[in-house]
Amino acid sequence: MSSPTFPVATLGMPRIGPRRELKSLLEGHWAGTLDAAALTAGARELRAANWARQSARGVSRIPSNDFSLYDHVLDTTVMVGAVPARYGWDGGEVDAETYFAMARGRPANGSDKGAPAMDMTKWFDTNYHVIVPELARGMFFTPSSSKAVAEYREAKARGHETRPVLLGPVTYLLLAKANGFDPLSLLPGLLPVYQEVLHELTAAGASWVQIDEPCLGLDLDERTQAALKTSVTALAQAAPSLKLMLTSYFGGLGHNEALVLGLPVAGLHLDLVRAPGQLQLLSDAPSDLTLSLGVVDGRNVWRADLVAILGQLEPLIGRRSIELAPSCPLLHVPLDLDLETDLDPEIAQWLAFGAQKMDELTTLATGLEKGRTAIADALEASEAAIRSRRLSSRVNNPVVRARSKDVDATMTRRTSPFAERRMAQRDALSLPQYPTTTIGSFPQTRSVRKARAAHAHGMLSAEDYARFIAAETEVAVRRQEEIGLDMLVHGEFERNDMVQYFGERLDGYAFTRSGWVQSYGSRCVRPPILFGDVARPAPMTVKWSSYAQSLTDRPMKGILTGPVTMLQWSFVRDDLPRPEVCRQIALAIRDEVQDLEAAGLAAIQVDEPALREGVPLREADRAAYLAWAVECFRLATAGVSDATQIHTHMCYAAFNDIIDTIGAMDADVIAIESSRSRMELLDAFPATRYPNEIGPGVYDTHSPRVPSVPEMVALLQQASERLDPSQIWVNPDCGLKTREWDEVRRALLNMVAAARRMRDEGRVIVAAE
Ligand code: GLN
Ligand code: ZN
Repeated sequence: MSSPTFPVATLGMPRIGPRRELKSLLEGHWAGTLDAAALTAGARELRAANWARQSARGVSRIPSNDFSLYDHVLDTTVMVGAVPARYGWDGGEVDAETYFAMARGRPANGSDKGAPAMDMTKWFDTNYHVIVPELARGMFFTPSSSKAVAEYREAKARGHETRPVLLGPVTYLLLAKANGFDPLSLLPGLLPVYQEVLHELTAAGASWVQIDEPCLGLDLDERTQAALKTSVTALAQAAPSLKLMLTSYFGGLGHNEALVLGLPVAGLHLDLVRAPGQLQLLSDAPSDLTLSLGVVDGRNVWRADLVAILGQLEPLIGRRSIELAPSCPLLHVPLDLDLETDLDPEIAQWLAFGAQKMDELTTLATGLEKGRTAIADALEASEAAIRSRRLSSRVNNPVVRARSKDVDATMTRRTSPFAERRMAQRDALSLPQYPTTTIGSFPQTRSVRKARAAHAHGMLSAEDYARFIAAETEVAVRRQEEIGLDMLVHGEFERNDMVQYFGERLDGYAFTRSGWVQSYGSRCVRPPILFGDVARPAPMTVKWSSYAQSLTDRPMKGILTGPVTMLQWSFVRDDLPRPEVCRQIALAIRDEVQDLEAAGLAAIQVDEPALREGVPLREADRAAYLAWAVECFRLATAGVSDATQIHTHMCYAAFNDIIDTIGAMDADVIAIESSRSRMELLDAFPATRYPNEIGPGVYDTHSPRVPSVPEMVALLQQASERLDPSQIWVNPDCGLKTREWDEVRRALLNMVAAARRMRDEGRVIVAAE
């Protein structure tokens, strides 16, 4: 590896390609239209393009093995041979078929009963998902993939000397599902596999390896710290000539600092964006330790303040060996801003995607080496962009600022306590016991998506599109009436996405064309960019909700996306504290809630599926987050009269540790996921601690399976053992937009029948008493 004075690293690149080529390759392969050889060739091209891209932009610590056909945790599972028995693997190099079966499940076929996929979980506090390792007590690991060394060689053959990346053993084990035992107990068996891989990499010529241990950003107990020490020591001993770059990211080292500084590594990466105070650490660190300084935000899309960063770095010149890097791998930002031909140029100049972040880093490296004058133009451009952003009238809306400052506690409190509101709502709604409803969306069929696309491309006029949506909405209302649901929804046919739809109607949000980031496997999302003060120029949902209400005598529920979710699923401005940004969104949603109430909607649901995932990685930060998240939800919802029923919905959340927060949101009704967990989740909701109403989902909408009446009755019975029957609502566990109408109709008919059976049984019991 040539050694520039200030080497630049990316730590890892987006894998999907500038036009989501990986998605097409994978989905073509899964559909059977692209054979394994073509997939391999396509993947090789994506890697080559990434290496070339980095090299062209002056990156000198180019990673390899950062690419993945699905995700790097699954790759690690394969590398160590931890393939669960149900995939029928019998040793040797794990083949692509087994790999994808683990990720996506293997369907039943003749005598083969098939095998369900492995679980997925969020990668730390990102919106990226990885496949959860399934480990068994005392299991045996064995090297089962040559991917790391093969990709190192592949890069070398193309003229790139790379630094292979491996997910560290301790983070890997901490991510695993281990039934009834401590996954760290498997470390001694795991380390030899890693050592073997390091030998191979050394033999192939690697001089550095990057070991990612993002668990260093968590509160680690002593046992885990000891495991890290054992692990890194073993890896360092494996190949004495090999240098290890240990990376921490998504936060500071915190109390893991002393441990880390004593580890036998040649390099250490620090996230200086989330934890700028760590720069202090430079004076404590051993003088021969190379520090990789994560100075450019790898998790967000804003252009860096080059002058400020230089100011931090210049005093370090000559004091020790440093590298410049993004705060974390570039996996979580879009690849290249230059693809955004439609983005408003005023906003575009404030942004830096992956490619631009590399440019920022190489510019900084040049500035450190040759002095500020050598990069004078770049510094000026950076300052001009920052000034423009600070002063822009698109960013600053004095009305919004003033209103947000005036928020007081009364605005976050409903008029009366739940017990009183409940009576007013019973009068207003006259619902039966075990009332039935759905979460909001009905199937987004091909024709709905086609009409939206045609409208977006100017091939369907606004009037015709509106007529189409009206007709779909009416069909959905009639179908819900026929099915016999008690509280209806309009179906969300007009919405492309639950965040995008609202973002497009709010000031302060911008949208990209190609700003894709990977969500999991082949799935990508394009998070909106929340760049300025948020205001609502006009009502966003009143038209379709009140139209739907006009079609029926049954109560219609308005459906909105909550402020925390609007925040969590966007790239958020970094020039204002997050709670303040969230409060602005909450005020906009509050206005919408009140407009819906005024339009005659007696129930309004404010979805917060992302509230749980926003919980910070470190314990010390949690209470503050939960407090402002709850306050924003309440600010959005508390402006209505007692008789208006506020619902909320969350999916896949482990509620046990945040039950008090859920209670503090004070929604009248919460609809939650629980069919998969067989109502276990309700153990968190004893009636004593959660007096409000709850709809524990009885129908898993993520599967095409139609649940039977007895099955749902059984779930409701379990629910009624844990809750007071008068608290219970009956609903699916999430929206229905990805399902087919036929299965939805059958499932909801069964669900309504199950609710009726519960009412009848209740009556029998009451009569018998
Ligand atoms: N109301 C939304 C829907 O039904 C909720 C989606 C979600 O929870 N992610 O689609
Ligand atoms: Zn949901």
